Amino acid sequence: MTLDFLGNLQRTHKCGELRSTNSGETITIMGWVNRRRDHGNLIFLDVRDRTGITQVVLDKEVSPVAHAKAEAARPEYVVAVTGRVRERGDGLKNPKMETGDIEVVAEELLLLNDAKTPPFSPAEDAIANEEVRLKYRYLDLRRTEMQKNFAMRSRVAMAIRNYLVDEGFLEIETPFMTRSTPEGARDYLVPSRVHPGHFYALPQSPQIFKQILMVAGFDRYFQIARCFRDEDLRADRQPEFTQIDLETTFPQQETIFRIVEGFLRVAFKAAGIELGTESFVQMTYDEAIAKYGIDKPDMRLPAMVDLSAQLTAELRETLKIDPALPVLGFTIPRVGELSGTARKALLSEIRGGFGDCGLDFLDVARLRTNAAFVPLAEAIDGKLSMEMAIFDGTSHTGNDLAVVITPKPGTPEMWNYDRQWIWKRVGQLRLDLAKKYADKHGLFTQTGTAADFKFLWVTDFPMYEWNEEHKTWDAAHHPFTSPHEDDITSGRLVNDKGTVRALAYDIVLNGTELGSGSIRIHRKDVQAEIFRSLGMSDEEAHERFGFFLDALEYGTPPHGGIALGLDRIVMILAGATSLREVIAFPKTAKAIDLMVDAPTPVSDIQLRDLSLRVTKRS
Ligand code: ASP
Repeated sequence: MTLDFLGNLQRTHKCGELRSTNSGETITIMGWVNRRRDHGNLIFLDVRDRTGITQVVLDKEVSPVAHAKAEAARPEYVVAVTGRVRERGDGLKNPKMETGDIEVVAEELLLLNDAKTPPFSPAEDAIANEEVRLKYRYLDLRRTEMQKNFAMRSRVAMAIRNYLVDEGFLEIETPFMTRSTPEGARDYLVPSRVHPGHFYALPQSPQIFKQILMVAGFDRYFQIARCFRDEDLRADRQPEFTQIDLETTFPQQETIFRIVEGFLRVAFKAAGIELGTESFVQMTYDEAIAKYGIDKPDMRLPAMVDLSAQLTAELRETLKIDPALPVLGFTIPRVGELSGTARKALLSEIRGGFGDCGLDFLDVARLRTNAAFVPLAEAIDGKLSMEMAIFDGTSHTGNDLAVVITPKPGTPEMWNYDRQWIWKRVGQLRLDLAKKYADKHGLFTQTGTAADFKFLWVTDFPMYEWNEEHKTWDAAHHPFTSPHEDDITSGRLVNDKGTVRALAYDIVLNGTELGSGSIRIHRKDVQAEIFRSLGMSDEEAHERFGFFLDALEYGTPPHGGIALGLDRIVMILAGATSLREVIAFPKTAKAIDLMVDAPTPVSDIQLRDLSLRVTKRS
């Protein structure tokens, strides 16, 4: 078979564009053969490009040459078709295809390129073997679903860009080859040839640069920036990922909130979702823990309720519950009546999950069978109903699963230096059970409207986290985050680190952290104090961040900002379950690019140039 040249032939239409109104026109389309059906004198080719698919008919009687070529064509061949658009006859229209009312009767067919039989067909849904998809990523990306994801990603990014530019932000690029940025992950390092033994670090974020841009008077900066973090990967993590990164001078937290809410609105609109104009819910970290047991609450479910007051000292004694520790409960809606066996299995699953930490399941259904405990069961129902009323205006019924968790006497108040461990443990159970019964309650099912998306701001995070291994207080965020002004003046920063609050905030959507940011330290004395309080000597601080401390001495304005994960936002909007569905060339969970096969060893010459030697670790 000889292939044709493109010559001067030009497309007049894309494959997804033709409609009945084009009937009678002579057009030219180009693309891939999606499917081919051979009926002897009639051959049908479905021709596909990014915009859609058009059915092309090759009639031996109309054009024997083109028909002969179509006999040779196979799926994924690249073709150009010139022909006349014709309305399909009654009964032959395909309402599932946007171009389903028409077909193109080919006058000329060019075979621009052939194709081996692909390991999987881009005309089909995704195959289960993700490794094959990633190895032949170009074929995987040809699939309609992937093309849609990337078209949406592009629209979303552009909407955000336009919004921020309109709000007075300048887009400024910052270097990839730089030095370590303290975001808490391991760095990817780049060896310097010119300076043997010296390394650049790829940025974990543009953090220091964006702050320096504020010192430099740019007032408002943003960047859709690539970040690199060498950490263990999960479905929603990649070694390199993209952040919508921004910083502004003279902000309050609310300034940042309004900007982010604004660009999320346009981003969601670009994906077909109208979010409405109300500001997002705000909640302090302590409230989030008390009500949801987690710092990224999923508000698509009812919150936890504190039942401590319902469990009087007397009741606690009879039911063998710790006299002082909290009793927490929650509802999983619409689970329905559980059979005896299902109930037993659930109980042992919950108890098994708790192990011997001291927490136990209180069976409210059983309480009801004993007259002495009926008032307690009713009081618990009452509290759960109050929360249901707040949640969706209904009340707690027997159709909902009530979960009440009690600490046995002697349960530790602190676990791993964490006073909030009981709330967190019960919060985790709430999420696990919500996942388990997702089909029943349907609260995670996407309806394609704003109701699917529960945003909130979490504020007042703790400034420090206790590191038991090193017996140190570590910064819970990067060390440029400002403590609350009150906690500086009250002396807590020095005397009571565990209670210091940070001017840090997270934006959360449906239980996923979309981004975090903070008001920064803009004074050198406070910054030096924070480094010191993190156990960094003045010399060490100077060695690592001297340039930054210097910059703080030359008139640094108050400033703050945030960064949101673009990949995650697009993943949620696409209804995908992995970031790999919205990153064109992602890495596997083992940080491998299967298509280009990276990382690889390098030649001895390259190593020598870089003054490096590879040794095997025993
Ligand atoms: N640099 C931070 C991060 O990557 C975000 C910020 O504080 O603006 O999480």
